Order: sequence, then C-alpha cells, then structure tokens
Amino acid sequence: MEAKPTTPMMEQYLELKSQHQDEVLFFRLGDFYEMFLDDAKEVSRLLNITLTARNGIPMCGIPYHAAKNYIKRLLDEGKKIAVCEQVEMPGPNRSIAKREVVQTITPGTVVEDEFLDAASNNHLMALAITDDRISCAYCELSNGIFSMLSFEKEERFESVRALYEQLLPREIIVNEDDYFSDKTFSSTIVQMDCMVTRLPPWYFSKSQGFELLRNHAESISLKQFGIEELDIELVSAGALFRYLQDTAKTSLDHIVDFTKVDQDRHLSIDESTRKNLELLSNLQEGGANRTLFSTLDMTCTSGGARLLKSWISSPLTLMDDIIERQDRVTWFLQHESERQRIRSLLGSTRDLSRLTSRVAMRRANPQDLVAIRQSIASFIELTNEYTEYYRSLLDKHVDDAMMTSLVDLMETLLSSIREDVQGPFSPGQVILQGYDSQLDHLRELQKSGTRSLQAYVAKLKEETEIPTIKLSHNKIIGQYLEIPKTHGAKIPDWFYRKQTLVNAERYTTDGLIALETEILASGEQADTLERTIYEKILDLTSAMHVPLMRLGQFFSNIDCLQSLAHCANRNRYTKPELTETDLLHIEEGRHPVVEQFLPKGEFVANDLSMGLENERFCLITGPNMAGKSTYLRQNALIVLMAQIGSYVPATTARIGLIDKLFCRVGASDNLARGESTFLIEMQEAAFILRTATSRSLAIMDEIGRGTSTQDGMSIAYAVMRTMVEMKVKTLFATHYHELTMLDTTGMQLLTPSVAETRRNIVFLRKIQPGVANSSYGLHVAKMAGIPSHVVRQAADFQRQHFADYALKGNSPQLDLFTGDSVSQPVDLLYEPIVEQIRSYQLELSTPLDTMHFVENLKRLLDELE
Ligand code: ADP
Repeated sequence: MEAKPTTPMMEQYLELKSQHQDEVLFFRLGDFYEMFLDDAKEVSRLLNITLTARNGIPMCGIPYHAAKNYIKRLLDEGKKIAVCEQVEMPGPNRSIAKREVVQTITPGTVVEDEFLDAASNNHLMALAITDDRISCAYCELSNGIFSMLSFEKEERFESVRALYEQLLPREIIVNEDDYFSDKTFSSTIVQMDCMVTRLPPWYFSKSQGFELLRNHAESISLKQFGIEELDIELVSAGALFRYLQDTAKTSLDHIVDFTKVDQDRHLSIDESTRKNLELLSNLQEGGANRTLFSTLDMTCTSGGARLLKSWISSPLTLMDDIIERQDRVTWFLQHESERQRIRSLLGSTRDLSRLTSRVAMRRANPQDLVAIRQSIASFIELTNEYTEYYRSLLDKHVDDAMMTSLVDLMETLLSSIREDVQGPFSPGQVILQGYDSQLDHLRELQKSGTRSLQAYVAKLKEETEIPTIKLSHNKIIGQYLEIPKTHGAKIPDWFYRKQTLVNAERYTTDGLIALETEILASGEQADTLERTIYEKILDLTSAMHVPLMRLGQFFSNIDCLQSLAHCANRNRYTKPELTETDLLHIEEGRHPVVEQFLPKGEFVANDLSMGLENERFCLITGPNMAGKSTYLRQNALIVLMAQIGSYVPATTARIGLIDKLFCRVGASDNLARGESTFLIEMQEAAFILRTATSRSLAIMDEIGRGTSTQDGMSIAYAVMRTMVEMKVKTLFATHYHELTMLDTTGMQLLTPSVAETRRNIVFLRKIQPGVANSSYGLHVAKMAGIPSHVVRQAADFQRQHFADYALKGNSPQLDLFTGDSVSQPVDLLYEPIVEQIRSYQLELSTPLDTMHFVENLKRLLDELE
C-alpha cells in the first residue's frame, strides 16, 4: 500500500480490503464502483480503463449499471471480485455511508446468465487429502446439484485427473496444507486449467462438514442422502459448502439434494481415454466440433445440452439403468410425431434450473419470473398428450399437490408480472395493472395528479394573462413555473421566486407545492408498494424451488432422450442388444464422427467379434493411414454409446457391459506437463495393467512408438502378452507388423486391406483377418510429398541395412520407383477404366473425340499409379 488513509472513507475502504485481499474490491460510490491503489492499477491495465488519482491515491471506476460486463472480463482474466455496496446512507450519526461486501463473485460460484456458458456446466470442485484417500465434492451452483465421492489411495491422482476431465470445473478449492505438503497433489492441481483457491485447513473438517450439511437439510442425519457421519467425503463437501456460503452470502435453498456418487454405477473412464476418444473436445484445438458430443447433440435446450455432456462423460454400468434409458429413447424413436411436437415445445422453454437458482438466491430479474411462468405453461402443454408417460418421467416427489401449487404460481405470475419487462427491478415497470387494487389506486392518484397539474397551470395562465407560463421540474428545485422576464410586471405577489435566469424567472406557488407534494407522496408510495409486491412474488416463487428444480431436470432429461432418438433416426443407428455375458459383437460398425465428415456412403463399415476364449485380444497390423485408429475408436465409441443408453452406428450390435474403458494412443507429448512422450506412454500403459479387469475394454493404438524400434517392439510385445493373460478385451493396433511373427496364441490377427497398384498403394479400409504384408512406410512418405530423391535414398538404405530385418514370411515391400516385383494390379481399381473402354462407341466418334478419350484414360491411369 503506497498511501496512508486520509479520509474516513479511505479508512473504511482499507478495512474492507484487508478482509478481501485475494479479490478485486468493487467499492460502491454513488453510481460507480471505484477501485483504489493496487486494485485500481491492475484493473485499469486488464480492462484498459483510465487510471486517475485523488490525493495521490490511484483509482479507477466503472458505472454500476454496466458492471456485469466488466465483471465478466475480470472473471475471464482469472480474477475474483468482492462487491461492496452502500447498505445505509449517511445520517445524523454517520458521516459516510455504511458499506458491506454483499457478494464475492468467483468463476465457480456465478449464477447469472451473463457469466455462464448456456451449454456448459459450471462446476466448482473441492479436493482434500484424507489419510490415504482423496475426498472430492463438486457443485453446480447455477442448478443446485451437489455431489461428493472419494478415491482410494492406489489410483487417487489418476482418478482426480479423470474427474477433472469429466467435469472441467471452472474453479477448484483445495486445502492449502495439502497443497504445500504433497508435491504430487500440487503438481496434479497446477496442471488443471482453472482457477485454484487455496483455503486454510479448518475449512476441511469432517465433523463441521456434517453439521453444515445437516443444518442445511434441517434434519438430524444425512442418511436420506446415503451419507454417514464418518464419511470421508464430508471433508471436502463441508469446505465446498462453507465456501459457497462465504461467497454467495445468500440463501442456498435451491441445493435440495446431496448426492454421494455411486462409482460402481458409472463407467470408469480415465483422463487420456476421455481425451483420445474425443468425447467432448477434439484433440486438434480442444473445441467441441468433431466430437461425440457434437455428433449426438440434437438437444433443443441448453439444460439438455449440459445433461447430455454429463451422460457422455459418465456412461452407466448397470443393466437396469441402461435399459431404462434405452427404452425411453426407443419410445421417442417410435413416437415420431410426438418427438417433433416435443422438439418444438422444448425450443420455447427456458433454462428452468438456472432460473430457479437465481430466484432462490435473490439474484433474479423480473423477466426471470416471466420465463419461469412460460416454462410451467410449456410443461402443462407438453403433458397434455401422453400425460401418464410423462408423469412417469417426472420425479416422484412432484406430487399432485405440488403440481396444483405450480399451476397457481403460474397464474399468479401471469396476472402480476408484465410480459415485456426488461432489466433489473424498476418501479412502474414490473407489476401489471389490475393485480393489486391499492397499487392501482396510488398509480391513479399519480396520474390524476399530473392531470391536475396541467389544469392548474392552464388556470394560472388565464388568471395572470401570461400565456407563456411553462411547467418544468428538475432534481434540485422540483416543480417550477418558468416565465420570461418580459412578463415581469404581470407576476402576482403570491408567486414565490425560486431561481433567476438571464431571460426568465422560475417561480412556485402554494397551490403548486400542494399538488407536487401529493403527487410525490403517491408516487413514492406506489414505488414502495410495487417493490413489496414484487418481493412477495419472489418469495412465493422461491418457496416453490423444489418442484421447479424437478421440472427443470425433467425438461433436460426429456430433451436428452429425444435428442438420442432423433440422432438415431437421422444417422440410421441400431438398438444395441445388451448382455451380461462378456461378448462384443458388432456388424457393419461405423465411426459416428468420422462418417459425418465423409460423403454419404463412403465410410467403409467394419465388423468386430470378440469375447470368447482366445478371441479377447485383437492385434491389428497395417500401414499408417489404413484406418486402424478409426476402427479401434469406433468400437470403443459404440460400446460407450450403448452404455449411455443410445443407439449405435452398426447394423447389429451385441454388447456385453464393461466396467472400465481405456483408450491409449502412443506418442503424444505432454510438454505442458513436462513429461516426455515415452514416459507418458509407459505411465498410461502401467495404469491399464494395474487396473483393467476381464470386464474392461482397452484400445491401444501404437503403444511403444516413443522409443527405439527394438525397445518399442519389445515393450509392445510384453504388454500384449500380459493383456492376453489378464483376459482384458483389447484392440491393439501397431504398424510393427513384425509382432505378428512372434507368439500370437490367444490373439485374433486383423489387418486393414490394402490394394497395391504398380507403384502405389490404395487403402480399402476393410478390416479382415490376417496380417499386414509390410509397413508401407516409404509409400506413405511418398504419398505425403517427401521428395522422390529422399524416398529413394531411404529405400536404398533399407535394402542395405535391414536386409535381415524382415521377418520370415514377409513379402518384400513393393518397389517404389521401377514397379519391379510388385503384386498384380487389383482388378477392382482398374475396373472403371476397363468399363469406359468397353462402352466407348468408336464408330460414332470423331478422331478428335478418340484422342481426347485416350488422353483422359491416360490421366486416370496416372492418377492410380
Ligand atoms: P491409421 O490409424 O491406420 O493411421 P486412421 O484410422 O487414422 O489410420 O485413418 C486415416 C484416415 O482414413 C482417416 O482420417 C479417415 O478419414 C479415413 N478412414 C479411416 N477408416 C475409414 C473407413 N472405415 N472408411 C472410410 N474412411 C476411413
């Protein structure tokens, strides 16, 4: 701090700032939020606003009505904001206004639409190390969902990373003691791309956590949520809840459930699997396009889109859960016209969960109430058809009595709040005429007062014979009569002068004062009454937060189900048959995302059958670009989609439920994490070897690529053999085709078919039993545009140095340049050319036509070779 306080206000500021050192303090001063000292310097730099100084104290300010815009930018810059308001005006005993921090805004605790992404969840997560476990809790304040779980010692950091990838929280709170004492913990946290808030250890207490949650639930225990007093999860849950209380400083009533996550009910997907399968974000730039989510997302509401993300991130494992969802998807698929009706109705609903949270937290605007009313109306309209079916999808806690209250609420909102209301509460703009007779009366008084004023001025004009009397008002002197000086002689003595201008005088009269007082009084009373009525309606709505939240969840749920049905219909997906047996049988499977980006019909469908003894491991060899990765991933995605409850891109799918899904891709450096390619590959492989079970599905793509060929191949071989022993269902792709010459017992050998032309290769993308002839690496290099002389040099080198390297039984790579010793051209490829020659009508063509024809044939042949 560079300046000493010189005024009582500065003293007040410094006192408040000392309690909010981690936040930017928005200090309310009239119509502005002012920042001082270091905050002012930082904010002026970040937001590019002018830095000024008063008495040597740096300061900058923003208009209070535009604050949200600035707050959003500061949040994006990774800042927290403490909002300090004037809570009592200066009075006889107080020289300055009393100020208090009324809210702390942090990325993980915002609920206003302006700060949220409509289609993304906005999680706040808490982590604490407890003995040998990690206690985790997470909450989405904007829809009141609060969950907790814990991870065992063995894989606790991997699990935390997986949870991070699943939730992508915007803010994490941790115990600062853990952070500074456990290096693995802190380095895990540092890698997470979100705000990290370190809190003192006393936040993290199991007993306090229990008390906090119990008090909130107003019950003697937490058993109704399946939570016991000694649960380790309470350590982080308590800290999370206290932090929410500290920052929000308002009711958290809309948090109606505490959920202890049953990890056995959800498919375990670790961080790399999530990334490599491109579930929610793509590997190129981390965006949502070209992901499983973008393919499946045909939701019509933002709440639905958020829920679909959760479903994809957290597929199910229990047969009953999956079948229940699948059946509902089937219902929407079969009821096509109903699905269309629902889609258009959902399009007009609003984000009910977020709206209700804002009402419960007293952060709502009047138009949020209009939106709540519209959503209840949509619900009623929606359930007019298939009432029984939809009621069965609604939470059983929303009983008939609640439904009646919701309808009452809708009617109250309809008769009370103006449909066209905008912005924050503003008197005169919110409550409808006819809702409250007293308010109507006061408003009428106000209006008639204005009419009386006009009549009074008209009378004055007549009496004084001054036609130019003008009635005006300003904030300082109130209502006045302005009369040009030229009429000075006619002014009666009962006119009191209020102000003198160059050419005119401003007057008032007893009559004007009396009317003004009457109007002001009725105006003020009307404003106060309107505010009171509005608050009552807010209370009424807030009291209905439980059924409203449930309706919000209902909408999201229905939206996801119809979206999966719509997508299945659009993309010709099939209903997978789910089985408790350990089989995986897919016919004509497709990659749901890749097929979207290829012209219709160009994606080559492929089968997979595994699960029986000796058929649990597939070794897929083939050159780069042949379609191995696509095949691997499409099978993983099909299984995952089936466990979400979705239909799948295949003609037949019989899927034994899996407990864990792993997807590893060799050779991807994580420089940000400071770990080399190979180290990561090995860590990831180690994780699978430690945790996979015979019910798991593992996809391993080019493992062992990040080191020398001999090391890589040896490791790949050992990993392969171990996976066979462990009976993990595995799809293992490698371009080390030599691996197929080693011990392949217990393995299915597969390869993508490759056609060889005279000097080139063509990928047919059909996976078939067998092994790759060759890696075709030099051909791929040539196709990629490596200059001919470089490829030729590589070929010479290969001939000289790796003459013995080719394993027995391998056919030589086809000659790259001369065409010697190649296999015969594949008829398939030349067939179109042959067909053209056959159908050419020579007798009807001119010599010039024929010349063009031959020229074209030559071009086609060149393209093939
Ligand atoms: P690999 O893993 O063998 O290097 P990829 O799976 O990455 O090969 O496939 C390379 C490209 O081939 C993909 O980008 C995709 O566009 C195309 N491809 C892969 N599989 C198919 C298929 N079954 N049908 C059509 N195109 C495919």
